[in-house]
Amino acid sequence: MSRFADIVLPLAQPTYCFSVPEGAEGEGVRVGDAVAVQFGPRNIYTGIVWRLHDERPAVKRIKPIGRRLYDRPLLDEKQMRLWEWMADYYMCTLGEVMRMALPSLIKPQGTSAEEFSEEMFHPRTEAYVALAEAWQDGEALQVELDRIRRRAPRRVELLEQIAAFDKAKLNAAGEIPRRLLECDSSQLSALRKAGYVVVNQRERTIERNENISFITPLLTPAQQRVVADIHTSQREGKAVHLLRGITGSGKTEIYMSLIAEVLARGGDVLLLVPEIALTAQLIERMERIFGSRVTAYHSKLTSLRRTETYLRLLHSEGGELVVGARSALFLPLRHLQLVVVDEEHDQSYKQSDTAPRYQGRDTAIVLASLYGGHTVLGSATPALESYANAQWGKYGYSELLERYGEATPPRIIISDTMRSVKRGERRTHFNQVLLNAIGEALERGEQTMLFQNRRGFSPFVQCSSCGWTLRCPHCNVTLTLHRSADRMECHYCGYTAPVPRACPQCNTVDVKPMGFGTEKVEEAIAELFPTARVARLDRDTSTSESAYNRIIGSFQSGQTDILVGTQMITKGFDFGKVSVVGVLNADNLLNSPDFRSSERAFQLMTQVAGRAGRRDSEGVVIIQTSEPDNPVIGWVARGDYEAMARCELADRHAFCYPPYSRLLQLTLREENPTLLRQGALALADRLREKFGRRVAGPVAPPIDKIRGQYLVRLMLKIENGSSLSRARTLLREVLATFHAESEFKTINIAIDVDAQ
Ligand code: ADP
Ligand code: ZN
Ligand code: ZN
Repeated sequence: MSRFADIVLPLAQPTYCFSVPEGAEGEGVRVGDAVAVQFGPRNIYTGIVWRLHDERPAVKRIKPIGRRLYDRPLLDEKQMRLWEWMADYYMCTLGEVMRMALPSLIKPQGTSAEEFSEEMFHPRTEAYVALAEAWQDGEALQVELDRIRRRAPRRVELLEQIAAFDKAKLNAAGEIPRRLLECDSSQLSALRKAGYVVVNQRERTIERNENISFITPLLTPAQQRVVADIHTSQREGKAVHLLRGITGSGKTEIYMSLIAEVLARGGDVLLLVPEIALTAQLIERMERIFGSRVTAYHSKLTSLRRTETYLRLLHSEGGELVVGARSALFLPLRHLQLVVVDEEHDQSYKQSDTAPRYQGRDTAIVLASLYGGHTVLGSATPALESYANAQWGKYGYSELLERYGEATPPRIIISDTMRSVKRGERRTHFNQVLLNAIGEALERGEQTMLFQNRRGFSPFVQCSSCGWTLRCPHCNVTLTLHRSADRMECHYCGYTAPVPRACPQCNTVDVKPMGFGTEKVEEAIAELFPTARVARLDRDTSTSESAYNRIIGSFQSGQTDILVGTQMITKGFDFGKVSVVGVLNADNLLNSPDFRSSERAFQLMTQVAGRAGRRDSEGVVIIQTSEPDNPVIGWVARGDYEAMARCELADRHAFCYPPYSRLLQLTLREENPTLLRQGALALADRLREKFGRRVAGPVAPPIDKIRGQYLVRLMLKIENGSSLSRARTLLREVLATFHAESEFKTINIAIDVDAQ
């Protein structure tokens, strides 16, 4: 038996060594187990046993590990390798991976043993019913039933129900879930007392119909070709296959067919979707085919639900389909054979705000290959990184460029805002062309979606005489006017203030809302079309999952005519009656300073456009812009992904941006801007000693103060062909000595590998 255990704690700390108690207590401790450990004077944490060994560390007192929390390890060998890969690649600690990867209830903590125990997860149990042993023999039971039939007809009825119960719905022990029995509790307890049945409390399991065959949609020849391509690339040993399929081409049907294959042979599948697109709609579509095999997993579920799911999967025999957001990557899917990443270009796959700052798509690929499985990436507008990998032959690649069935791609109209203004053909935020299209759609009983990528009423208010604007005291941004809440709000820190009635600088009362967000669009469109039913979908209106589903549901059932919204309306919905889609202001998509802005603008507008005319009606997409000649607008109008990719990739190549390099971004944060500046310059100097011209900065990010802290950035650009892992090692060394210097100790440094 090993005497020591290295333990990962849910903290930004290295692993710590604990002793394994001798005798029964320490018996059977395994790598991957969750154990209670005392850490610091008063805290008890859940830790993961990472390594068992006999090397006594050079410290005086070594605390023993406490009890094991679950009957089997929470992590298997492959999950542990995944965590290690993440900690190394994304430059964080295993503890930070643990904090993010495991649902909070699964890893209790407390300041005393009692508090720790209180926090512990108790699985939901349920009653299961079976015939008592003496009555399992059918003949004996029949005789008995006949004997008591006259005296106790209700009893007989219930016993017959139990005896004839559908075998497919029994649990693994051959028992009937109580909730599926039609009887009341007094009837059941009478049977139990009379010795006819036994009732056991057990953890809830889901019924599995073993020999189920899945009926997936019949694929079109074009779709079948894609499936064949994917098989070929699996056979050729390519770990990843990229599918570029336009909106409405039936990517989901292709996934279904791949999923059915894997489930039928007992493998697990993970279907990743961007959080926001994880709607009841998609889950239902999957459940219609895969029934109880489907498990949804995302951040909106309670920690209890997520914990139950995690622990249930630990015992699974395979054949699971998890539909989830990026956090589903950390579930124990021991029979994983296929990971599908839908809308793989979506930015929300990257966690940027806290460590580990990981890219879910890339992590998915690593995960699948650890299990010897395959990854399928799907998108109408693949990320250039993925597309380049396909072009370079690293990934398999297929295209699906026709819509399913009668549906035709929408007609795209570019509407020049400046020209409309000159001709007097613009009312508030709408060019006449768009208004006409909306009016006609309303007359035909068809629906409209209007996209504006800003929430709130207007992004700032301004004094019309001196130009004063109201800014956040903690962040370097203007406050957004939210009219329905009647207040000003900071979109970075949540600070709120009353709406100013007069300018504090010159006392002018003429303080005007400037620019426009979804709230203002909603108001303006309702004024222009007073009989139309208008709704809005953005973060402010969808504060809960039910609010979100209500808005979507009412649009889907035709109770809403016009839906105004942010990015939220662009993802994955399949509405049949949308014939008009309006992009209200393409300019603010085109003009962001990021090197990815063209790619992003193209992806976003193409996604929005894809919502139009999905079935029988021909759709029209109207893009309002003051830059009709911008190449991005042209690519969107022609649906020319390849031209976009060619042009952008040439630019990226010229400036050595991804996919021709990897970016390591350092964000330095500190209250004192002078100290921050000095620190950033000092760090930049040291980095230049090691990395030379690969270092860029320091530069202030577009928003250089958030929550009272100033920000400065440094960037390392590691060109393809030179070692990223060597770069990480050097960076670690530089940071270690930098932090050791007292004058810059207060500067917080966040590392973002493959920053987006
Ligand atoms: P995508 O995910 O590529 O945007 P979907 O999978 O949502 O496309 O398909 C668009 C529509 O066409 C959906 O309503 C879907 O049910 C239908 N569809 C696509 N392929 C088939 C098929 N092979 N059989 C039946 N319906 C299909
Ligand atoms: Zn003023
Ligand atoms: Zn703020």
